[in-house]
Amino acid sequence: MDSSIEDASQDGDAVVAQGEGPVTVRAARAAGPPVSLSPSRASDFMQCPLLYRFRVIDRLPEKPSEAATRGTLVHAVLERLFDAPAVERTVPRAKSLVPGQWDRLRESRPELGELFAQDPQGERLARWLGEAEQLVERWFTLEDPVRLEPVERELFVETELESGLRLRGIIDRVDVAPTGEVRIVDYKTGKAPRPEYAEGALFQMKFYALVVWRLKKVVPRRLQLVYLGSGDVLTYDPVLADLQRVERKLLALWEAIRQATESGEWRPRPTKLCGWCDHQAHCPEFGGTPPPYPLPVRSAGSGDVAQGRMGAD
Ligand code: SF4
Repeated sequence: MDSSIEDASQDGDAVVAQGEGPVTVRAARAAGPPVSLSPSRASDFMQCPLLYRFRVIDRLPEKPSEAATRGTLVHAVLERLFDAPAVERTVPRAKSLVPGQWDRLRESRPELGELFAQDPQGERLARWLGEAEQLVERWFTLEDPVRLEPVERELFVETELESGLRLRGIIDRVDVAPTGEVRIVDYKTGKAPRPEYAEGALFQMKFYALVVWRLKKVVPRRLQLVYLGSGDVLTYDPVLADLQRVERKLLALWEAIRQATESGEWRPRPTKLCGWCDHQAHCPEFGGTPPPYPLPVRSAGSGDVAQGRMGAD
């Protein structure tokens, strides 16, 4: 799932049905400790704990990006296409859905209007919509929607582990074979990772597989990532041990998040991904200062709780 849809599974965000699929409501939520984990937020913490803090605890605003919004738009088109009878799921029909889904997206998220505010002639918008259509068209070279009848689309899933950790997320598509075998499918509008990075890409899918296993007591037969940017399909057939391993990893991650939440120590971890981070102005690695830490902190060894300590130092 692309990032802006993934946002719907962030801690504290409400996911509401608005007639045509889930829409994220990032309404005002007071700062509070994290209460659940989604694949994208777990990845944030692994990438950079301070980034996780900015997104989950401070909830700092982020600018919409053309790439992420295009991903959301393409996901919406692929989801809606399955409303049509199988024989009508054609390339022209799918491409014809693009403008209407863009209108709907803009209505539900008015802030997206700023993406093309400096485009009075509409040239950039036209090019961007054309790129979305190309991605939609490429999907037909990778899967045949005439032969697919998804059991679920944009499925919100949530489960609670024995430890109390709540896992949540939104699965793009769930297919179930006549034999009962479950396939979890996720669309990516970017390019497939090089083989040495495939494990990172599969983490999200194993996360979903773990939630499905917890909810349905069924280990999905196949996890499938469909990369529309490069025209690749990455699959993995998990076994129970994979899911148990992911569960252990998530529990360790959650413990690290809990400790950081209590201590207020959220360390920046600079990588080349900092180039895409919206929060450099608040990041010590770039000469910035984090906002005052909004949660109580426990000083090391004392058990005392103090208010308002600065987060990353
Ligand atoms: S700029 Fe880099 S190090 Fe700083 S918060 Fe963002 S991702 Fe982390």
